[in-house]
This record gives sequence, C-alpha cells and structure tokens, in this order.
Amino acid sequence: MHAIYTKYLLPSSGLFFKQIPSPQGFVDTYKVFDGETEIGEIGINQDGNWLLIGGGDETFGTPYQAAAKLLETGSIKVIQSQLLREFKANGIEVLEAHGNEYIVRNIENDNHYVVRPGHVEVNQRCECADCYYRDAKCKHQVAVENFLFQRLLDKPFDELTASEWNLLVTDAATSLIRGV
Ligand SMILES: [Zn+2]
Repeated sequence: MHAIYTKYLLPSSGLFFKQIPSPQGFVDTYKVFDGETEIGEIGINQDGNWLLIGGGDETFGTPYQAAAKLLETGSIKVIQSQLLREFKANGIEVLEAHGNEYIVRNIENDNHYVVRPGHVEVNQRCECADCYYRDAKCKHQVAVENFLFQRLLDKPFDELTASEWNLLVTDAATSLIRGV
C-alpha cells in the first residue's frame, strides 16, 4: 500500500483513494471514491503537485484538496446522502430553528431538548445531562451540526461564501460527517 493511500484515507467520510497506472507526466495516480461511487482521478506530477486527471492545469498541495475539487464539480450529493444516513442513525431529529436555538427530538424516547450551539458556556449548549453535567458534545449538538451542514449542502454553489465553502470541503470529511 502506498503511503499516500493511508495518509489521506478518511475512514469516516467514505472517501478513499485507489492507486491506478499513471498516464504520462504523472508519478502516481489514484482513482477517488466516495463510498462506492467513483468521483474521478487525481495524480501527482514530477513537481509534487496534485492535479485532476483530464481536469485542466489547476494544482493542489494535497490529494485531499484535489479530491475536494472533484466533489465540488460532481458528487456533493453523495456526501449529502451519506450525511442523511448518519443523521438518521443518530436517532435525533432537528425540529425547529429559532435564531441560534434549535429544538431537537430523540426519536426513540421522544425527549425534546433545546440546543444552543454558539453558547459561550459549553455546558449550556444543550439541556441534556451529557452536556450539562459532563460538558460533553452530545449527540444533540452533533445533530444540529449535521442539520446546519445539510443546509449548506442545499445551498447553490455560487451562493456559498468562502468560509462556507471551506467548511464544506474541510470539516465535511473531518468532523461533521463523522457524526457521533
Ligand atoms: Zn444534548
């Protein structure tokens, strides 16, 4: 297994890289999958830059950035459906948003909680015991994060601000998609 493969493997995001034979001008080339869906091919050239195979001259510092570009151009929907699955698996439903407050419901026991993700006091961010007594980032907060993330995914690309886009391509694969 090539070093790059493991270094950039993001197990929870479902994004992975499979090495394939390189076309001329590339040192290493990878097919990029999001779950079971192939989203394109990326390669590293002799100068150490990552490019999309057949995708122009734009270069990237890491294979993950190149893969993010593939996501941008094609399969953001794949992430979306994955997120929905995790969201359901979570068992927490976001019912309403009032400004910075969100009402969530535990589907299993019908308990409701108010989540305030931006609250400065960590133990005030959710009403549940996990949060209140243990300062934990509870599943209710994660559900709200997923909800907010989903809202970004639903936004047309040309309306995303730079920081929203950064959130999508970086946190998407690291914290938010991971769910609980
Ligand atoms: Zn909670």
